[in-house]
Amino acid sequence: MYLKSLEVLNFKSFKGEVTVPLDRGFTAITGPNGSGKSNCGDAIQFVLGPKSNRVIRAQNSTDLIFNGGKNSKPARNCSVTLVFANPVMSNGRRRLPLDKDEIRMSRSIRLTSSNNPVTTYKLNGEDSTQKVFHRLLGAANARPDGYNIVLQGDVTSLAKMTANERRKVLDNVAGVTSYDDEIRKATKQKDMVENYLDRIGLLEKEQLERLSTLAKERHVAQKAKEVSDAIHLTNAMLLQSRYATLKNELAFHIEERQKYLTESQRLLDEHKATEKVVLELDDKIAELQNEINRLTGGETSELGQAIQALHVAIELNNDRLQEAANEEAEEAEEADVLGEQLSEANDELQAFVSSLESANDALKQALADLEEARAEVLPAAEGEEEREVPRRRGQRHLRAYNLLLRGRCFLSLLNLLLLLHNLFLRSRNRFFG
Ligand code: ATP
Ligand code: MG
Repeated sequence: MYLKSLEVLNFKSFKGEVTVPLDRGFTAITGPNGSGKSNCGDAIQFVLGPKSNRVIRAQNSTDLIFNGGKNSKPARNCSVTLVFANPVMSNGRRRLPLDKDEIRMSRSIRLTSSNNPVTTYKLNGEDSTQKVFHRLLGAANARPDGYNIVLQGDVTSLAKMTANERRKVLDNVAGVTSYDDEIRKATKQKDMVENYLDRIGLLEKEQLERLSTLAKERHVAQKAKEVSDAIHLTNAMLLQSRYATLKNELAFHIEERQKYLTESQRLLDEHKATEKVVLELDDKIAELQNEINRLTGGETSELGQAIQALHVAIELNNDRLQEAANEEAEEAEEADVLGEQLSEANDELQAFVSSLESANDALKQALADLEEARAEVLPAAEGEEEREVPRRRGQRHLRAYNLLLRGRCFLSLLNLLLLLHNLFLRSRNRFFG
């Protein structure tokens, strides 16, 4: 693998398109100072990808585009293409890991309308990236920051270097530096990864705790869902059961209604039939009545008159019975009144007898008092004979009073007997007319 040619377009001092052929082996580019020899090396590094624009002696990307010099118009884009020959080696492989004899790597810069530079990469005419270029060139040990390219002054500075600095350069050339860099990078990445692992460990711990809480919550939620499902199921079953019951009840009521309707219809029919029979019977009764009238000769016949007389007699008897009933009611009322009067008379008699007894007692007491007074007042000399006279007089009075009292009692008894007799008479009249 070797660089076959360098195709430059508006790069630095190169105006327009310029192709620099580089044959196999050693190629020298000569020219006066400032003629653009070093710009060729810059062009190669530009495609390989320098770490900074300073390496290719430019402040920024815009400095890489042909500025027009003194006599030309400045360009708005530049492009460099490295054409590598990539033949098959003795081991059957190619240095650049692409199955092509020629590999074209292009890098372009164009200015936008606002003069901002935009960089694009193309590999064999197709869009690509700087990473792809580095991967391909890395496989061929052609790194942009390596010592593949020895710039102007590099040899002089190498000669002036200290032993340590020169060692670094040699390490770099030998590829040791790149391994050291890779080791450094790997160690740095390892530290970062360890750091990440620590952080991930903390996060994992937090997440595990959270997971535990969530597991508990999930368990509770599952339980709640189970209970909720069970409630829904039970409700559904309950509703189904109610629905079935109501359906059965409805069917029962429909059946009952039908039965009642049938029964009603049957009764209606029966009623109609009975009405018909009644009408027929009425007709027959009328016919019989007519027959009876025809046979008995109506109300003018003897039998009719007798029946009429019997009807009248029955009516009269009924009236009498009604009168008797009325009289009986009146007598019952009168008996009640008499009973009340008798009770009152009896009460009066009792009161009278008791007052008589109390009067008798009072009289007896009065006589006793009189006797006692007389015994105290009359001298003893007057003798027993004189005290006997008033005592006898008092006794006579007492007897007369008793007689009077008995007479009055007798009268009261007579009144009572008379009352009872009246009652008896009324009762007898009522029952025996
Ligand atoms: P020396 O022999 O002194 O090393 P050289 O041949 O290496 O010189 P270079 O350094 O390659 O010359 O080129 C320098 C020239 O390139 C300068 O004349 C400079 O004006 C010109 N130049 C650099 N950048 C641009 C640019 N963007 N547009 C036009 N010309 C440029
Ligand atoms: Mg130079």
